[in-house]
Amino acid sequence: MPKKFKRVLVANRGEIAIRVIRACQELGIRTVAIYSEEDKTALFKTKADEAYQIGGNKGPIEAYLSINEIIDLAIKKDVDAIHPGYGFLAENPEFVRKCQEADIKFIGPDAEIMDKLGDKIQSKILANKFGVPTIPGLERPIKNEDEIKEFAKKNEYPLMLKAAAGGGGRGMRIVRSDDELIESFRDACEEARKAFGVDDIFVEKYLENPKHIEVQILGDEHGNIVHLYERDCSIQRRHQKIVEFTPAIALSEKKRNEILDDAIKLCEGAGYKNAGTVEFLVDKYDNHYFIEVNPRIQVEHTVSEMVTGIDIVQSQILIAEGYRLDSPQIDIKSQDAIEVRGYSIQCRVTTEDPTNNFIPDTGKLDHYRTGSGFGIRLDGGNGYTGSIIQPYYDSLLVKTISWSRTFEDAVRKVLRSVEEMKVRGVKTNASFLINVLNHEDFKKGLCDTGFIENNPDLFN
Ligand code: ADP
Repeated sequence: MPKKFKRVLVANRGEIAIRVIRACQELGIRTVAIYSEEDKTALFKTKADEAYQIGGNKGPIEAYLSINEIIDLAIKKDVDAIHPGYGFLAENPEFVRKCQEADIKFIGPDAEIMDKLGDKIQSKILANKFGVPTIPGLERPIKNEDEIKEFAKKNEYPLMLKAAAGGGGRGMRIVRSDDELIESFRDACEEARKAFGVDDIFVEKYLENPKHIEVQILGDEHGNIVHLYERDCSIQRRHQKIVEFTPAIALSEKKRNEILDDAIKLCEGAGYKNAGTVEFLVDKYDNHYFIEVNPRIQVEHTVSEMVTGIDIVQSQILIAEGYRLDSPQIDIKSQDAIEVRGYSIQCRVTTEDPTNNFIPDTGKLDHYRTGSGFGIRLDGGNGYTGSIIQPYYDSLLVKTISWSRTFEDAVRKVLRSVEEMKVRGVKTNASFLINVLNHEDFKKGLCDTGFIENNPDLFN
């Protein structure tokens, strides 16, 4: 029997905290926010029913990683469940286990699934087991410098070094020759150690300018799994997504179906539960390869919501309450009942200076006006006139999302919205986004992951 939550703690900040609080409110659930000393004046905390400062003077990031303090607060406030958002504790199996021990439901997959899929090497091994193609490489951590030299001798360059625990493009290095190999390996180890506390690095072939295609998954706790189709997230800078859209208009029907089938195959095999994303790269020969599973809500979930009409965050909560996908509450009767209508594009407006190597800008927003209107959804963070953009956190200011019946009009709408935005006091990447949206390749959905690097004129 499903158990309705009365109170949910949102263990995150910024736009995703607001997104989760809104979903809870619509489901009649009381919300408890947490915030760091540095976030004392942040908008998200005012949206929750209750908000508590955590972390003391531990630091702006560490506050949101205070596992024991968050769980103690949740117990004290009689919370039924915790939503982790993305980043921070969202993919931390230890946190999931501690929630379970405290009899608090973690809104996401269970710790075993995270153990299995959170590590890029383990998930590649699992994908191979289920017949899902992966990029050829060494499926274990590189032991030492001799081993990587040996691998490079037997395999052609370019190669890609990647952190097993990787995320956010960290611990990744492209290697094009023997001369770069050892230094890149050392750099990748160092970066991974700093970012993730472990320096397990693996190696695979580097694909030249592939497309990044990913599949949104929803699985209930009764073994039912569906996909909400794909997203094209190829517009990236330094392996970080900037513009995302769905459907991936340049994919053939055949390729799309193969990728969707493989995503389901892997998630069914792994016994996946709750929302997740299966990521693939598609090379210029139209081969697709699995790269990783993200066992959490993603920044770009919005575009899938716009075309399917399914609220993914509400679904996450209802799944955690124990509802079946085909229950009247979630109302996804079957895979075939999920229809894709129209096109949706998301632009990540960030407080970064595109004319100066995307250096994050901070300070007071003297003026903040967004461009809404028909077909536009704005998922904002801490943007309002007078708000302070802090240097400690992700520079995402607002997600501008369009929906329309045609791709061309979805481009026009999101472009109009970004152009209409007026932000003063802090620099944003708006001019860069406008250049991307005006590019002929983008309008045809043809961009690959090399697009930004190969078009320096976008920065002007
Ligand atoms: P992270 O978890 O750090 O985001 P991913 O494994 O998801 O890292 O990869 C991020 C991006 O890096 C991909 O979307 C792609 O652009 C690039 N990438 C990753 N692996 C390869 C590869 N083997 N060849 C070419 N590009 C790659």
